[in-house]
Amino acid sequence: MKAWREECAIFGVWNSPEAARLTYLGLYALQHRGQEAAGIVSLSEGQHLAHKGLGLVADVFGEPELNRLKGRAAIGHTRYSTHGANQLANVQPMTANLLNGPVALAHNGNLVNADQLRAQLQRQGAIFQGTNDTECVLHLISHTQTNDFREAIETVLPRLEGAYSFVFLSHDKLVAARDPYGFRPMVLGRKVDETSGETATVIASETCALDLIGAQYIREIEPGEIFWVDHEGEHSQKWTAPQKLARCVFEHVYFSRPDSIVFGQSVYESRKQFGRWLSRESGVPADVVIPVPDSGVPAAIGYAAESGIPFEFGIIRNHYVGRTFIQPSQSVRNFGVKIKLNPQTAILSGKRVIVVDDSLVRGTTSQKIVRLIRQAGAKEVHMRIASPPTTGPCFYGVDTPQKSQLIASHQSVEQIRKFIEADTLAYLSLPGLFAAVGGQETPQKTFCAACFDGNYPTPLYNENAKEGVRS
Ligand code: AMP
Repeated sequence: MKAWREECAIFGVWNSPEAARLTYLGLYALQHRGQEAAGIVSLSEGQHLAHKGLGLVADVFGEPELNRLKGRAAIGHTRYSTHGANQLANVQPMTANLLNGPVALAHNGNLVNADQLRAQLQRQGAIFQGTNDTECVLHLISHTQTNDFREAIETVLPRLEGAYSFVFLSHDKLVAARDPYGFRPMVLGRKVDETSGETATVIASETCALDLIGAQYIREIEPGEIFWVDHEGEHSQKWTAPQKLARCVFEHVYFSRPDSIVFGQSVYESRKQFGRWLSRESGVPADVVIPVPDSGVPAAIGYAAESGIPFEFGIIRNHYVGRTFIQPSQSVRNFGVKIKLNPQTAILSGKRVIVVDDSLVRGTTSQKIVRLIRQAGAKEVHMRIASPPTTGPCFYGVDTPQKSQLIASHQSVEQIRKFIEADTLAYLSLPGLFAAVGGQETPQKTFCAACFDGNYPTPLYNENAKEGVRS
C-alpha cells in the first residue's frame, strides 16, 4: 500500500523542567493541523518515554500521561489522515532504538520518493511497522556509517525528495531540519523559565503555539537548514546550497491559524489582502458582505473594507459540533449543515449578499451555504472565493482530494456557479493571489501554488501522481 502523509503539526522543547507539558500545550494550539492522532516523546536520563493515541490532544493526554513523560526535552506531533490506515503504528513521533540509543521523529510534509526509498530499504532487509513515509527516514539513519546523530541526519537529507519539516529527539540532542524548498512552515522560539531563569529552545509548526506557552518568536528554521540544540547550546548549519523556494501558499489561504506568522508574514493580513484583491477584481453591487465562518472571516473583512459594503456575520457557527450527533427522527431540512451553520434571517432577508470563503474544493460546502442563505430570504447570492480554482491535488502534505473530485479540474467557473446555485461566482486570480502575499519579494518564485497552477516544483516519481491517484 502506498504511504501518504497528510496534514500534521510538530512541536519540540529542549531544556525545560516542563518539557512534556509545554509540548502538550503547543500541540493543543496546533490542533487545527491534525485531529486524528497525537503523540509525545520525552527524554529522561538518556531514555525515551512515549505516549501516543488516536483522537484529539486533550483526549489522548491527561494528568497521568503527562506526569509519566518526565524529562527536560520532548517532541510531539498531531496527525490528520483521511487516506490509508490510521492505525497506531502510524502515529508519530516515530521511535526506534539505534546503535547509539533511542531516536524519535515527528514529520510534517510528504516525501514524494517515499515508495522508492521504502522498496530499496525492504530489498536490503528493512522491516516496516506502519505505512507512513516517515519510517523510511529512521531506517536510512540506521543505515548510515556514522555514530554522530546530527551527521547521520545530514547524510540522509539529500536522499529525500519532497516536503519535510522534521523534529528529531535523540539521547542527547534535539534536531530540526527543513527541506530546501521550504514547503511546510517551522519556527524557532525561546522561553525563559520564570523561576529558574533558564532558557528553553522551542520548535513549532506555527507561531500560535509559541504564543500559548509564552515563548518568544525568534525566526523561521530556514529552508535547507539543520538546527540542533544540545548541552553545549544551539547550533545551525545549511546542509545544501540555496535553491528555488516553494513555500506552500495554501498555508496562507486556509491551513494555518490566522494568528500565526508563517514564512515571516501574518496569515491574518494575507487573508485580508486576498479579500481586498478579490473585491478589486470582481466587485459586484450588494448590500452586505458575509464570511463563511470561520475560514472566510479575514478575507471577508478585507473584501468589505475594499468595497465599502458593510460586513456582517450573516451565518453563525456552532463551535461545539462533535464528530457524531443523533440524527432527528423526522427529517429536518438541511439538518447536516444547520447543526454547524445557522443563517440569520434578520441580516439576510431581502438583501443582495456577497458571501466570501477561503477556497472551493469539491463545491458541496458552497452549494449548501448558498441554499441556506437563499432560504433565509436573500434576494441575490454572490459567491466570492479568496483563492484561485483548486485544480490539482497536493503531494506535499495538504489533504486535497484526488483530481477527479476537484470540481475546478473539470468544470468551468460558469458550470461551478450553476452547481452551487449562486447568482455570480468569482475566484481570486493567480496574479492577485501572488500580489496579495507579495510585499517586496517576487512571490510566484518563492511559493508553491501547484494546487492552483499545476506547477509542481519537484519530480513526482509516480506516473499516477498528477492525476492524484492514491493506492
Ligand atoms: P468543498 O468545496 O465542499 O470541498 O469544501 C471547501 C471548504 O473546505 C472550504 O470552505 C475550506 O474552508 C475547507 N477546506 C479547504 N481545504 C481543506 C483541507 N485540505 N482540509 C479541510 N478542509 C479544507
